[in-house]
Parts: sequence; C-alpha cells; structure tokens
Amino acid sequence: MPWDNTATVSEAPIVAEGLNHWFGTGEARKQAIFDVSMEVAKGSLTILMGPSGSGKTTVLTLMGCLRNVQHGSVRLLGSELNGASEAHQVQLRQRLGFIFQAHNLHESLTAEQNVLMGLQVHGRGDPTRQRMAAQHMLRLVGLEDRVSYLPGNLSGGQKQRVAVARALVSNPAIVFADEPTAALDKESGANVVRMLKELGHQRGTTTVMVTHDNRILDMADRIVTLEEGRIVSDRKGNG
Ligand code: ADP
Ligand code: MG
Repeated sequence: MPWDNTATVSEAPIVAEGLNHWFGTGEARKQAIFDVSMEVAKGSLTILMGPSGSGKTTVLTLMGCLRNVQHGSVRLLGSELNGASEAHQVQLRQRLGFIFQAHNLHESLTAEQNVLMGLQVHGRGDPTRQRMAAQHMLRLVGLEDRVSYLPGNLSGGQKQRVAVARALVSNPAIVFADEPTAALDKESGANVVRMLKELGHQRGTTTVMVTHDNRILDMADRIVTLEEGRIVSDRKGNG
C-alpha cells in the first residue's frame, strides 16, 4: 500500500467530543457542562459567548488542559486529555499560552521581566536570546518604550498588552484567553484582540477567547454561544 494519506493528515488543534462536566460531590453534585462537542481550526479566532454561569470558563479550561476531563474527549494538539498523566499535561501546557481577565502580572517585575516569565517556565535557554525575544514581543505589542516599567506605572491596556506578550513570547500553538478585554476601554480591548488575530495569522496560532464583548465579535472567525452548559449556537463570524 504505497500511500495512506489519512495517516498523515493532522487533525484540528482542538477536538472536543461529548464533554460533560460536574462540580461538587454528593448531594451538591451538579452538572455544569452537557454534551459539548467542537472542533477548532488551526489559525482561527474562536469566541465563546454566553451569559454568566453558562460554562464558558469551564469549557475553556477543559480544552486548555487546566482542568481534568471527567467525561468525553478532548484531543489537544493530537493528544487525548481524558486520562492523560500529569507529566504529559505539563508538557502540553508548555505549548499553550494563557491570558486571563486579571492580567496576573508580577507587580515587582518590569514589563520585560514579566514577559521573560513566559519563557522561563520552559526551563533553560540562552538568557541573551530570551531577553531579545521578550523585547521583540514588547515591540510587537507597541510597548518598546515601556520595557523597564513596573506594572504599577502602566495603564490597564498596557498591562494587558504585557500579558499578551507574555502569553505569545514562547510562540504557543494555541492561546486560551478568558475575558482578556473585560477590564479595558473599547479601544484598548479592540487593540488587544486585533493584535492576537494578526499575530495568529502570521504564526498560525489558534486562539480561543471567552468574551461578553459585542465589539469584538466582528473580528472572530467563529462564534460559539453557550447557555446553561450547552452549545446553543455555532456560527461563522465576520473575521
Ligand atoms: P462562565 O465562565 O460562563 O461564567 P463557569 O464555567 O465559570 O461559567 O461556570 C459554569 C457553572 O459551573 C456555573 O453554574 C458555576 O456556578 C459552576 N461552577 C464553576 N466553577 C465551579 C466550582 N469550582 N465549583 C462549583 N461550581 C462551579
Ligand atoms: Mg467565566
């Protein structure tokens, strides 16, 4: 059999199938996610929407290897997460970038040092090259003149851009962002998403983002809406 193309076609970076998830134990055990399936295309910007408590963060953290899969399947970069060892999950997380609503910058570290944290979780590396990479990322997010500022001396939008630089400096395959623009004004929020989208297109990075922000929907390739733990709509965006 000379050719078996099916064996070499790589699947989508995220394939979730039949996800169910419960919180609590005993009497308090409550199902939060019901039969969620979705496949996320490489290089795309997918937005998860829905009311508060609809399960967006739970789905994002299940797909992002930040929460154990209880029932169903998530294949992340070709690896099954259900039943994956902690060591394997740690390895996988090194290929991911995370951005949260609270930017989680270290207040005592400069912008550059915060971005370096995004590389140093990966272990050793040439410090000079790491600094160059951090400075390059800060330039890409428009903060080249703020590299030695502490977070306390940056605006909300600038801090969130440092967090974006930190998430992207290791050139992750997938970026998971949970309401990254919630604390930002309209323009800073749009800029952060535009940046993620552009860098994504340049590098083939896949982005999955939770947002309530209607202003961002125009930039999405795909919009998935959750209600009460279920996908109620899955449509193409204008991005
Ligand atoms: P969203 O991000 O859309 O606001 P979440 O995924 O955080 O929603 O929550 C979905 C549901 O799961 C909600 O009913 C929430 O109360 C519940 N939930 C989330 N995290 C926990 C937890 N750690 N313990 C118990 N219930 C939780
Ligand atoms: Mg949430």
